[in-house]
Amino acid sequence: MEHPENDSQYTGLTVNNGVAQPPIVNPYLVKKRRKALPTASELVEGILKGDVTMLSRAVTMVESLAHDHYAIAQEVIEKCLPYSGNSRRIGITGVPGAGKSTSIDVFGLHVLRDGGKLAVLAIDPSSERTKGSILGDKTRMEKLAVHPNAFIRPSPSAGSLGGVARKTRETIVLCEAAGYNNIFVETVGVGQSETAVHSMVDFFLLLQIAGAGDELQGIKRGIMEMADAIVINKADGDNVGPAQLAQAQYRSALHLFPPTASGWKPEVLTYSAYYEKGIAEIWEMIDRYFAFVKENGYFEEKRKEQARWWMYESIDEQLRKHFYDNPVIEKRLQICENEVLHNRMSSFAAAADVLKVYFNQNNL
Ligand code: GDP
Repeated sequence: MEHPENDSQYTGLTVNNGVAQPPIVNPYLVKKRRKALPTASELVEGILKGDVTMLSRAVTMVESLAHDHYAIAQEVIEKCLPYSGNSRRIGITGVPGAGKSTSIDVFGLHVLRDGGKLAVLAIDPSSERTKGSILGDKTRMEKLAVHPNAFIRPSPSAGSLGGVARKTRETIVLCEAAGYNNIFVETVGVGQSETAVHSMVDFFLLLQIAGAGDELQGIKRGIMEMADAIVINKADGDNVGPAQLAQAQYRSALHLFPPTASGWKPEVLTYSAYYEKGIAEIWEMIDRYFAFVKENGYFEEKRKEQARWWMYESIDEQLRKHFYDNPVIEKRLQICENEVLHNRMSSFAAAADVLKVYFNQNNL
């Protein structure tokens, strides 16, 4: 049947000829070519020469979630490992506002006065929220940021604390292979990330400030126990007295702690990062620490223990990932979780059920 629209008498809606569609892609736009991935050997060669661009690219691959990047990164790390280890790894922690950025800036310049190179890395578990911008942000360390021998890298942003920490640990290897003989690892002193940092540094420095009420409140005992030194910042102006009082309080608190495995007695010093007072004393103490632990063998012992710890940590992390990333397991978990929540299955039976599916799937 003829369509009514074709009738000249038709008065209803008609379809007009449309206009030609413009092309979706602007033909004048020059297509940007993606930079080809460097090979592991190219990266290693660059890193060993101290090439900062190659180092940065390798670190980006360590942090990447892409499979091909991961494989290259692991090869680079393995090849850099024999050239790593020759550094002082120092963990620096303190609550926001304690003056970490200001301090790292002046500490950094102090260590660089004698030559050498410094890498400032960070572990910030909250960076998933803030896209890694709080820590390691270059603008916070103005002088170091423009120093030719300083390499500043913000916290890896994606993933669990364990994953973020592992990436930082791997980055240390790359930086050392590139000749960075001073490594600072920064954390916000509020959570569990301190334990992760402790497992990758030789010396752990806790930054504190006075005048925040009862000095020993609000600081986790665990963090204090890990500290090889507590340094009280902002000992300037009217704050000198309170800083000294806090120093006395920390000293007596530390007496109550069990002796450290290293045999080193943690020290408490005051300083002012802003006015650059007391910095040399802190560094003189850190020098003494390194001389002490190298002499009594603890330095080597701790590094070996850390390597062992990371081996197991890495196994744990990869097993968990393999398990939880599995879509069948994901579904099964949901079902079992629901059963547990409705009291139809015990937690243990549910766990056994999910694990059985996993083991069967992997022929275990
Ligand atoms: P972060 O959050 O721990 O990194 O702390 P910042 O380094 O950003 O410092 C927090 C604030 O404390 C800034 O306003 C600094 O200028 C100030 N500050 C840092 N060090 C000192 C110091 O030695 N004395 C005084 N009076 N203020 C300081």
